[in-house]
Amino acid sequence: MLWQQQLPEEYRTLDDGQLAQRITRRREELSSQLVILGHHYQRDDVIQHADFTGDSFKLSQLAAERATETGAKTIVFCGVHFMAEAADILTPGDVDVILPDLTAGCSMADMADCDDTQHAWKVIHKVLKAADWKGRVIPITYMNSSAAIKAFCGEHGGAVCTSSNAGRVFEWAMAGGTTKKKSREKIKLLFLPDQHLGRNTAHAFGINVKRFTTLWDPQADIRGEHFGGTTEEAIIRARVILWKGHCSVHQLFRAEHIRALRATDPDRKIIVHPECPKEVVDDSDEVGSTELILNTIRASKKGSAWAVGTEMHLVNRVAREMAEQGVDVQSLGGSQCLCTTMYRIDPQHVLWVLDNLAQGTVVNKIAVDPKVKEYAMQALGRMLELTAQPTTV
Ligand code: SF4
Repeated sequence: MLWQQQLPEEYRTLDDGQLAQRITRRREELSSQLVILGHHYQRDDVIQHADFTGDSFKLSQLAAERATETGAKTIVFCGVHFMAEAADILTPGDVDVILPDLTAGCSMADMADCDDTQHAWKVIHKVLKAADWKGRVIPITYMNSSAAIKAFCGEHGGAVCTSSNAGRVFEWAMAGGTTKKKSREKIKLLFLPDQHLGRNTAHAFGINVKRFTTLWDPQADIRGEHFGGTTEEAIIRARVILWKGHCSVHQLFRAEHIRALRATDPDRKIIVHPECPKEVVDDSDEVGSTELILNTIRASKKGSAWAVGTEMHLVNRVAREMAEQGVDVQSLGGSQCLCTTMYRIDPQHVLWVLDNLAQGTVVNKIAVDPKVKEYAMQALGRMLELTAQPTTV
């Protein structure tokens, strides 16, 4: 986690109304040079100040578009660290990307460290070489990963994926990725950092996940287990090596929640994010990205009822919005499903970065190293190229 300097005392004494007023005034003052982005999971008192809301990839693309169209020179990203990094990678070099609180990280992204990944890569290749395995390992990383992990994937012929295009990227990689698979060549994926998205995507692709995936635990070395807590045999057999990472919010949803709900409210439909464990996804009615969840609920008929397996700020907002249309929305797992790191972005920090900007000072700038940027852009570019093509699945 990065260090965040303490805010001056004055920001802690302002009440909610004063904070909102002062942020609004600063936005008006800085409007031509500024874009504020708010992730779907952001708290209400922050999201009300966002020019755009969306998921991490949509927001990064919007940041790049707006900076090009309007010449805006500053993006304030009300999200978490990896999202600000992605915005910095995608926007022109003269645009400053600011994360209002540097401690707003993502527990899932933090679970895949670059040194651990390099180590796993070496061990996996050593095991495969010793077994005379003929093929290639292609690394795929979820958008929710550090720039360094995206760069690792770019450098090793892999790609980034989002929760909405993971199936597409998976299919591309299994077909050989950047170099079409030769007839006898074997392909294996290393999927980082979310084991659940990786497992759910592998299952949807038709892989028997019990037999042909294995889990690489980066902490296993500490326990003296030298094959990531798995075995040489499992590494050789696996079609997908899953990284042992997860989202601390989506992992809270359980199959028991679904069973309890079905018993008491059988007509309520269940829609969940693919970062949820496989048994939750399997037992749900629908699965998809935050954008898909929103679009599905917004398109549902009056009188319908939904239980949603994703972060509570998004669920509460869509519940309020849809109540007016006669659609009942509730969380699948209760109110504890909150992204606590994103919650660190509060109106105090937003106002503090805007006050500094008004005085010509850029604080909390997120700047990705140029070499890392170059390779990460390759991994992102492969995904963008794929999603621009008409779908075949
Ligand atoms: S909801 Fe989960 S994956 Fe998303 S930012 Fe929070 S911890 Fe990371």
